[in-house]
Amino acid sequence: MSTVDLGGRFGLDFELAFRESRVQRALQTTPADVSAAPQLTFARNVFVPLTTACRYTCTYCTYYDPPGEASLLSESEVRDRCRVGADAGCTEALFTFGDEPDDRYTRIHDQLDEWGYDSLRAYHIRACEIALEEGLLPHSNPGDLDRAGFDRLKPVNASMGVMLETTADVRAHSGARQKEPADRLRTIRAAGEAGVPFTTGILVGIGEEWRDRAESLAAIARLHEQYGHVQEVIVQPVVENERSDFASPDRTTMRRVTAMARRVLPESVSVQSPPNLAPVRELLDCGIDDLGGVSPVTDDYINPEYEWPALRELAEIADYGGVPLHERLPVYDRYLPDRFRRVGFDGLPADASPTGAWLTGQIPDALAAPDVHGERFRSVARREAPLATPETGASAPGDD
Ligand code: SF4
Repeated sequence: MSTVDLGGRFGLDFELAFRESRVQRALQTTPADVSAAPQLTFARNVFVPLTTACRYTCTYCTYYDPPGEASLLSESEVRDRCRVGADAGCTEALFTFGDEPDDRYTRIHDQLDEWGYDSLRAYHIRACEIALEEGLLPHSNPGDLDRAGFDRLKPVNASMGVMLETTADVRAHSGARQKEPADRLRTIRAAGEAGVPFTTGILVGIGEEWRDRAESLAAIARLHEQYGHVQEVIVQPVVENERSDFASPDRTTMRRVTAMARRVLPESVSVQSPPNLAPVRELLDCGIDDLGGVSPVTDDYINPEYEWPALRELAEIADYGGVPLHERLPVYDRYLPDRFRRVGFDGLPADASPTGAWLTGQIPDALAAPDVHGERFRSVARREAPLATPETGASAPGDD
């Protein structure tokens, strides 16, 4: 049987290969080959868009701002957002980024310099510390990163992520500042080497073929086999917007590719579908088991007792599927130290971290903190945190 050698194709300095049969199995997968998950999970997060600067210019992206227009949150802005999120009952500070801003972003670099930081990475670490001070667990999506970068960020992050999107060379990534699949693969591997619980995913509909989707998922599965660090894979459709002329993939495509993900990935890796982007109700029988993060919004933001509209939507989706909905931390249960994992945990604990511990630095301390924040983390881990139910809009235990 032949082998697909992505290491050779991309000139990687590590081996990344898998059998062609894995790709063929993925390509033959239909929704009938997988089952609905017995439960759904989600996390409560607050967005912290540390900067909208990005060295790349992906044609479907509305996140980045060009030089001169990009924002950079100050320490006080980071603190204010995190404080509001923690007060509202969030557990996660979701740090979103572009990729490392290049020299064109003079205002960003000058601002960092004025604040006493020699790089965005250094400032990012301080921002994560602020989130921890305010009672949230950071989950950062900082774009391409090497092993040293992960080693610096791991002690202040519960988990991290980067979307692979696709291993294909697509027009959407073309141009002078082109995002390279090889760099994303290097990043996912570096996260594995550093023992970082990791989120990645594929973006569907940016010009890739079915074989590219199968190879992308197989590459993620292979890297996870080597390091055990992939906690979830997002199957995300591209959406039409003012910068993109890509049509959103249809329902049939999303059903097939979601089932493909479920079948290619190990059972212990969650498959996430974002309800704000995908027809989630129609994907429940294709094996999704996570609905991503929900954030408090507008008036609800300041009142933890008030039902969150986005949370109500998740509860309705779970109700539609006839399965329980559970809140989780940004880091999945299986990567938690035993002492924080709930009694009755029936999943597969993660294998030993390549570095000795999945959670290091300030993260175990935050989970163990003898304060309201530590208690909130632990109650979510124990599944004792209240959920708002669609029937009543009131709080109810999140147990089975
Ligand atoms: S790397 Fe990410 S933030 Fe930057 S342009 Fe591409 S999708 Fe947008």
